[in-house]
Amino acid sequence: GLIFFQNDFCARILLLELKWCVLCLLLNEAELQQRSPPSMISLAGGSPNPNTFPFLSASIQVKNGRTVTFDEATMKRALQYSASNGIPELVTWMKNLQKNLHNPPTASYSPEKGQMDMCVTTGSQEGLCKVFEMLVNPGDNVLLDAPTYSGTLTALRPLGCNLINVPSDQHGMIPAALKKVLSRWDPSEVHKPDSTAPKILYTIPNGGNPTGASMTAERKKEVYELARLYDMLIIEDDPYYFLQFEKVQRWLTSSVSVPFPWAPTFLSMDVDGRIIRTDSFSKILSSGLRIGFVTGPKPLVDRVVLHIQASTMHTSSFTQLMVSQLLHSWGQEGFLQHIDRVIEFYRKQRDAMLSSADKWLKDVAEWHSPSAGMFLWMKLRGVADTQQLIVEKALEKEVLLVPGGVFMINSSDPCPYVRAAFSLSTPEQIDEAFKRLSLLIKDAL
Ligand code: PMP
Ligand code: PLP
Repeated sequence: GLIFFQNDFCARILLLELKWCVLCLLLNEAELQQRSPPSMISLAGGSPNPNTFPFLSASIQVKNGRTVTFDEATMKRALQYSASNGIPELVTWMKNLQKNLHNPPTASYSPEKGQMDMCVTTGSQEGLCKVFEMLVNPGDNVLLDAPTYSGTLTALRPLGCNLINVPSDQHGMIPAALKKVLSRWDPSEVHKPDSTAPKILYTIPNGGNPTGASMTAERKKEVYELARLYDMLIIEDDPYYFLQFEKVQRWLTSSVSVPFPWAPTFLSMDVDGRIIRTDSFSKILSSGLRIGFVTGPKPLVDRVVLHIQASTMHTSSFTQLMVSQLLHSWGQEGFLQHIDRVIEFYRKQRDAMLSSADKWLKDVAEWHSPSAGMFLWMKLRGVADTQQLIVEKALEKEVLLVPGGVFMINSSDPCPYVRAAFSLSTPEQIDEAFKRLSLLIKDAL
């Protein structure tokens, strides 16, 4: 009962599917040739000849002494068109990681049966945008817990949907509040053609942008059960999954060796195939390389791939090969060791920001310590709206933060919050910034 959405985009996609074989011939020459006997002479492909490309080979130094090397043959592959769902060895590596981290219930995760699938996207933003375009029709009700990532609002707004806020706190979306929001619809009527019941719920489960909030496993279970009751898809946008600060502590204090002590995800609970999960390498390998992944029910991932085929064709082959070679040389263990180092860095940064906040902002602001991510979300006391304070006065005092309004469904509503990122500045800079901010707030009062 998953394919309940119907819109022009899907119609276009179905048409596209009919042209699938033709497109394959045009786009995946390299793949087709691999499957053909060596004696085959193909005049079918639309790929340019890489011998005419100016780049020959590459050697990329990796921290800790490794090297990613593209010999001439690999370079040709890196410079050529590739499959729209991602280069096979990268997709396979990620499927294994996903299986080990989330172990989605076998009922829904069975690559053999083809019920769940993954594809590579050009950053998770591309995946999110395409998922929204696939699922959301004008006038649809869409549930999310605002304040939320401004990129999500940017992707959803042009679709003409009605964004409904589900109240949240420092532990993310509140299940009782979701239940209340949903109570205006009758669960037995959500499949009626004229039902206005929301079909999708979007949330950032770990280290939310901008709030830093992380959902507890209990809350996720309750939200999942409500999604079952109302037959909704959940879009689990989890780019800060790998920045869980408690993870290493649990690892170190655990006497038994627990292989993957990460917070349980919606994907790990997905007995029905109603989770679409977006992962990102932006916070752990590179944001500029643009690599993300969509994991979800195969019929839906297939459609995202068809949309990729009609837009970017695929994420840069060069980028994918570079990342794939590194991941294969690291193995999962090396990858997770790298993640541990990244977590360690951000945890120290978070702690530095918290101690500077304690030092300078105690009397003028309030906040919760984030257990994941890169952000501290602060409510400024006595400031009704931070927009003016930040945009005008903060610039004068040479300190920059993001006013909370940009993360709200209605960005013009007054908002007393600001978002501070602890990712880029040194602890000394953070301290000086909060000193300036405290003066600024005191001046404004
Ligand atoms: N337009 C035409 C007419 C093409 O033939 C192609 C690709 N062969 C494209 C656009 C897409 O090219 P690109 O690889 O730059 O996306
Ligand atoms: N989702 C959230 C919640 C984010 O905060 C971001 C980036 O800041 C993204 C998605 C987009 O990430 P990517 O670089 O993978 O497109």
